[in-house]
Amino acid sequence: MAECDCCGNEYDGAFELTQDGKTYTFDSFQCAIQQMAPVCPSCHCKVIGHGVDLGDRTYCCNHCAGQAS
Ligand SMILES: [Zn+2]
Ligand SMILES: [Zn+2]
Repeated sequence: MAECDCCGNEYDGAFELTQDGKTYTFDSFQCAIQQMAPVCPSCHCKVIGHGVDLGDRTYCCNHCAGQAS
């Protein structure tokens, strides 16, 4: 059994994700997104697609990236 780093739920189907050398355990993709997905600086939604990288920021779409300048 592993415990989800986001909600604390114990689930034997939990999985691990590594980001910046830290490993997290999650019981669902919803929790993984909640904890790990970048937030678009323009519209503040979670970026769960490819996103648009501009400098060190990640925007959800070209529209938001275009508003940044
Ligand atoms: Zn969870
Ligand atoms: Zn956005």
